[in-house]
Amino acid sequence: MKPVQDVLIVGGGTAGWLAACFLRRTLGDSIGITLVESKEIGIIGVGEGTFPSIRGTLSVIGIDEARFIRECNATFKQGVHFANWVRPAGTPGQQSYFHPFSQPSQRPGGPELLPYWLLGAAGSTPFAEAATLQKAVADARHAPKRPGDADYMGPLNYAYHFDAGSFAALLCTHAQSLGVKRIEATVDSVELAEDGAIASVTTRESGKLTAGLYIDCTGFRARLIGEALGSPFRNINDTLFVDRAMAMQVPYDSPDAPIASYTISTAHEAGWTWDIGLHERRGVGYVFSSRHTDETRAEQVLRNYIGKASEGRDPRLLKLNVGYRDTQWVKNCVAIGLSGGFLEPLESSGIGLIEAATYLVSYLFPFNGDVAPVAKQFNEQMKARYEKIVDFVKLHYCLTKRTDNSFWTDNVNPSTIPETLREKLAMWRCRPPHQLDFITDLEMYPPSSWQYVLYGMEFRTEIHNPRAYAQMGAAQKEFRMIAEVSKRAVADLPTNRALVQHYTRK
Ligand code: FAD
Repeated sequence: MKPVQDVLIVGGGTAGWLAACFLRRTLGDSIGITLVESKEIGIIGVGEGTFPSIRGTLSVIGIDEARFIRECNATFKQGVHFANWVRPAGTPGQQSYFHPFSQPSQRPGGPELLPYWLLGAAGSTPFAEAATLQKAVADARHAPKRPGDADYMGPLNYAYHFDAGSFAALLCTHAQSLGVKRIEATVDSVELAEDGAIASVTTRESGKLTAGLYIDCTGFRARLIGEALGSPFRNINDTLFVDRAMAMQVPYDSPDAPIASYTISTAHEAGWTWDIGLHERRGVGYVFSSRHTDETRAEQVLRNYIGKASEGRDPRLLKLNVGYRDTQWVKNCVAIGLSGGFLEPLESSGIGLIEAATYLVSYLFPFNGDVAPVAKQFNEQMKARYEKIVDFVKLHYCLTKRTDNSFWTDNVNPSTIPETLREKLAMWRCRPPHQLDFITDLEMYPPSSWQYVLYGMEFRTEIHNPRAYAQMGAAQKEFRMIAEVSKRAVADLPTNRALVQHYTRK
């Protein structure tokens, strides 16, 4: 068994450069890291929404928050507003809800608020609004933190929106400053050893390259893990239907227009649009199912959503491989990013999965060359993560009351809902979800995220023994306090644009 002394990362998108920076910072110079990226094959260039875990990752990597915001056109994100996911616009009843990143308020010794909310302690106020200050702050387009707060810290939980191309460029510069070697070349062939491991890769411009461990970050191409090693791809389009995206970058109406501090996800007839406010522009895209609509109609939906700003601009069409590989680490090759899998853009799981995989590679790193046990653990953990995210993403679709298109009625059809999710829903009809229902180390989304989506989508839980909840008075008091403090939080926090400008002026 030969000790692993060097790593070759193939691919320089978000996955490649994030892995390069993270491994360099966590493994130090004990391991040589080289990244090879192709000049001809670009990066996917989308992926503008993140999850709060990104703050910890950026902090480990050693990039300060002001530089990140300045160089990546970034803004603050506090959650996702789901418009028209419950019912179509203009129909009676509630149509929309908010998924905030902050947890429901919980005082030491105080009641857990959800059961009391279900018992009516907050009246008709939606759960996300009743249980945290964040909804009020986000509605006002204010930021989750103040200018004086420390890097990556703030009173409310947050992530970012950023420009994907600028992010990869920043990581590329930073990685090289940490000592990562960059080679600009295209991998033309992958040579295998007798035992099936990768022996070398051959590039057009720089010849043969070898390493102890290969990291495949070649995006949907999966040049190493898929094409060379043949690790099968599990397509999950029978559960998550979207398989196309049409994206457009549009300007604000005016340079000082307010910036939403959440992603706006709007449901349409055969999919949904993302609307992400960066500092200098918006990124908008329609994610849809080609089995439920066609490209001409999809473009119309996107243009109708954007309005006048779409005139004279051409959308970019992307084909999505929605699914994942059960085995993402084979012999001496591990896949990170789109080469390992992709579960559609809803709730920004792509970069979160890159962070999780990178953390695992660093933590499990096979210094002694014994890759088999490490690969086994990596594969089990990543597969479990993917399965749990599939359930969470499907949850957004399968509770809809929309019947305006077969896209939505098919999504509610039990045969399209994973059994694991059906079991959870059956359990939660009789009692509210609790954190003990989750193996939190394997979940990207905390229990509160499940709660916000479930009750935002008007899921019904019957509490059979209300007398078991004996802290009604304390819960009502807490809900009143949250409503009161929300007003103060809005007054104390700057607008999203003002806070971004504070950092960009630095
Ligand atoms: P890519 O960006 O495709 O990079 C691949 C790299 O491999 C490139 O550098 C290319 O040059 C190189 N390469 C390929 N073949 C070779 C070769 N033969 N030789 C050398 N180099 C090669 N994620 C989120 O977290 N939030 C979001 O909001 C989000 N939105 C998305 C929206 C859409 C429509 C899509 C498709 C994805 C979205 N994602 C999102 C996922 C996110 O974009 C990706 O997870 C992320 O960009 C990582 O991509 P990557 O680095 O794996 O691949």
